[in-house]
Amino acid sequence: MSAKSYVNDTLELIKKYSSRQPIFLQCATEVLKSVTPLLEVNKTYEKHSVLERLVMPERTIIFRVVYIDDKGKAQTHFGYRVQFSSALGPYKGGLRFHPSVNLDILKFLAFEQIFKNSLTGLYIGGGKGGANFDPKGKSDAEIMRFCQAFMSELSKHIGYSTDVPAGDIGVGAREIGYMFGAYKKITSKFDGTLTGKKITWGGSLARKEATGYGTVYFSEELLREKGMDFHNRICVVSGSGNVAIYTIEKLQQLGAKVVAVSDSDGYVYDKDGIDLALLKDIKENLRLRVSDYAARKKGAVFVSKVNYEKGTNGIWSVPCDYAFPSATQNELSLEDAKNLHKNGCKLIAEGANMPCTLDAQKYILENKILYAPAKAANAGGVATSALEMQQNANMTSWTFDEVDEKLHKIMKDIYLRTSDTAKEFGFEHNLLAGANIAGFRKVADAMIDQGYI
Ligand code: GLU
Repeated sequence: MSAKSYVNDTLELIKKYSSRQPIFLQCATEVLKSVTPLLEVNKTYEKHSVLERLVMPERTIIFRVVYIDDKGKAQTHFGYRVQFSSALGPYKGGLRFHPSVNLDILKFLAFEQIFKNSLTGLYIGGGKGGANFDPKGKSDAEIMRFCQAFMSELSKHIGYSTDVPAGDIGVGAREIGYMFGAYKKITSKFDGTLTGKKITWGGSLARKEATGYGTVYFSEELLREKGMDFHNRICVVSGSGNVAIYTIEKLQQLGAKVVAVSDSDGYVYDKDGIDLALLKDIKENLRLRVSDYAARKKGAVFVSKVNYEKGTNGIWSVPCDYAFPSATQNELSLEDAKNLHKNGCKLIAEGANMPCTLDAQKYILENKILYAPAKAANAGGVATSALEMQQNANMTSWTFDEVDEKLHKIMKDIYLRTSDTAKEFGFEHNLLAGANIAGFRKVADAMIDQGYI
């Protein structure tokens, strides 16, 4: 069979068995189509049914989570953990608490995580989990009770050598703390089963900063190869969570000016450059919205999403040299990519997971906009989680500079691995193909080595 037919047959299989999972299908389509050239030159993968095996999670756990809200009412949610692949190590990946969470989204995130984790060069498999719970507007006590209820089931399925969850959208240090406390109480174990812990009880310095810093380190390598840098460049960073905040911090350290950030209500344009201390206070301490940033900062304007043009995300109409989509999946459409291009944008670097739609990706590559794809560019977060696991296993802790230096080296290595693989297959400018092929090859080879399981 030709590699193209093998890929198409596998995608048909996904459509048949996961017919109501369009986002997982989108992600699988991207990965499988890009690895076609590898499957063409190496028929071993087809011989060992690697694709059919790889697109099916090793295990999926779906459970009920019930907690009591502040009014004394029982609230019920879906909890999930998708343990997708353990070919390279224990399942590793974050937990997302967001009302949009469902099996489709978690399968896409877990699948993406397999190849991202492979690219880090560390021994971690791929998984993801979460719940359709909205932390927005909940009291601290409600968050604690929800985390405890969630962990009362999840604890049965995780462990430092089996599955190591971390944070993602809606799950930060506070939630990890409550879940870690619950895990410890249920199992009587104090170990490295969760990452993203606070520094004082087993966390790693620089973990909080790692995804954002890593995205900038990766982009720096890409720009360097083209004789470009960040100095005096205008940047737009979507989102305002952990990834966005530390992307902005590193960009500012390298001399760039970030003029816009966003959240699910809209975006803020600040022509003088985002005041990071104010943004951190608003988001990390006060847990407020970016509209509150605009209300407190002279010269900053808030544009509500109700005013966005149909089919677009308003923040991408802000002219910039470099764009960092760091909010969520499919936040940058074909129209948005065209807008960015028209306004002279030279680089799109993905801090979020799969922020560009398939047609936006195609447009970006065809128009030779520099493109740092998510599974390579944002791998710094999970890589530093693996460094946290290493520190926990050795009962030690490294300084901020030690971790940051290791992160920097890991991102440089990921860049090399990605661009070398792209060149090997004749796609000089296509890091997406490079990342997918390099990530896939290592996992697929390990699956063959380990037999049919
Ligand atoms: N949620 C993050 C990601 O998308 C980090 C996962 C982790 O640290 O395990 O990669």
